[in-house]
Amino acid sequence: MTGASPIGLRWDAAACDGVGICLHLADRLLTVDAWGFPIVPRRPLTTRADQRAARAAARACPRRALFLVEDDPAPS
Ligand code: SF4
Repeated sequence: MTGASPIGLRWDAAACDGVGICLHLADRLLTVDAWGFPIVPRRPLTTRADQRAARAAARACPRRALFLVEDDPAPS
């Protein structure tokens, strides 16, 4: 389903400690690198399911290393 204003999910590498809660909450969005850190999609998230997963992961991150950008423009 589409139609929601796009949001972006961003990751602060300096803040992340690699615990991985986000990977469980947003496994549809995030993948993991060789060191156990999340790889965050750079595309705007437009579906409600993707946005729900992104919000859950950002809310649960104990280091506030994940955060949302509202009305994320499409990459140029
Ligand atoms: S939950 Fe936060 S601190 Fe933990 S791996 Fe994900 S982004 Fe990093």
